Amino acid sequence: MPKGVSMPILVMKFGGTSVADLDRIANAAVKVQREVERGYDVIVIVSAMSGRTNELVNWVETTSPFYDAREYDAVVSSGENVTAGLMALRLQEMGVSARSWQGWQVPINTTSAHSAARFESIPRDNLDAKFAEGFKVAVIAGFQGLSQEGRITTLGRGGSDTTAVAFAAAFGAERCDIYTDVDGIYTTDPRVSDKARKLDRIAFEEMLELASLGAKVLQTRSVELAMRYKVPLRVLSSFEETDETSGTLVCDEDKIMESKVVSGVAFSREEAKMTLVTVEDRPGIAGAIFGPLADAGVNVDMIVQNISEHQAKHAVKVTDMTFSCPINQVARARKAMEDARDAGLINFDDLVADEDVAKISVVGIGMRSHAGVAAQMFKALAAENVNIKVIATSEIKISVLVDRKYLELAVQALHDVFELDKA
Ligand code: ADP
Ligand code: ASP
Ligand code: MG
Repeated sequence: MPKGVSMPILVMKFGGTSVADLDRIANAAVKVQREVERGYDVIVIVSAMSGRTNELVNWVETTSPFYDAREYDAVVSSGENVTAGLMALRLQEMGVSARSWQGWQVPINTTSAHSAARFESIPRDNLDAKFAEGFKVAVIAGFQGLSQEGRITTLGRGGSDTTAVAFAAAFGAERCDIYTDVDGIYTTDPRVSDKARKLDRIAFEEMLELASLGAKVLQTRSVELAMRYKVPLRVLSSFEETDETSGTLVCDEDKIMESKVVSGVAFSREEAKMTLVTVEDRPGIAGAIFGPLADAGVNVDMIVQNISEHQAKHAVKVTDMTFSCPINQVARARKAMEDARDAGLINFDDLVADEDVAKISVVGIGMRSHAGVAAQMFKALAAENVNIKVIATSEIKISVLVDRKYLELAVQALHDVFELDKA
């Protein structure tokens, strides 16, 4: 039995649309009250009201394009403070004893990597003491923490999912329920394909790939933590009546009956393709390019090196280096490359950014033991006349970069060819 706690603990996380206004906060509070009545001590994690974090990010970027990340976190973390306080107030009005906590009050200790901080520890003492006093609900501001230097940090976009799983792990919660605006995890984003099918269960590893390839329904890091600490993780609707069987359970592979080669299609609209035109083709060139990009915090995903069209004009052997990165990091990547050139580390004729691309990926643990998935994928895209610009594969996924205008068409074609609408 965990120290000082007599009731089983449940973690319930409400995303931005689920706390978008006072009525929705009230609606979420009713769900919390129901679990208290069932005998749980509840840890509620809240996001900012929907749209609020975007607004705050925009204010920061407008004020300071290459902002100080500490101040970014100071501003951007504030949305969750509002909803945490409001949720606690709403619960109190309903007669449920609740208290709100900002990250520093718990404290949620994180690394100092501002805007991408990771958890270091969540001491239980403060919350345990409150539960022992008879409080039934602790409402935690998601997405934020405290660095060793005593500054507020944030966990990266979508980070409240990770806050929820981290609390579930730290408090040995019976389950971590992620309430959102869809009623579970689908074979692809139900907003893009009306043939998307809701899954009863999905394996941690598949969800991890889908999330890291753009499926926003869970933050990647939350799935990683749930997998590591064996937290039963569930995604369900905050707008519908729900019970123990609702939604989608993310669980170990061996608890899944359904076995398909491909289980889902993920995509990201926020990709850019960047090409360094004519860099010297010599040992060490990749390190000289990707080192400075990493130091600048650019998340490079796909990489291709190909023969430069401009070889004839150069005395030394040259190559073109293409990579993909999130679209909001294009300016950062460009600056890192220009600085590296000024410092004499690399040389290039041009840096071309293509910001009209999207990344589409198929994911499935069945791909480990099946050949031919790539060929099937490429043929399906060819049949729709969709040109593939870059390809990347790993054990359980294949990703392609295509022109963004083909995104919906390509997602649908892949959903069809792998028959994901059929159980
Ligand atoms: P919240 O604000 O609750 O955290 P998010 O917008 O972050 O909600 O995540 C939920 C959204 O994720 C859904 O509205 C849906 O459009 C999107 N999504 C993307 N891929 C999937 C998928 N495979 N299954 C379900 N939802 C998905
Ligand atoms: N409010 C933060 C965001 O929009 C965190 C979250 O909602 O999970 O990214
Ligand atoms: Mg989210």
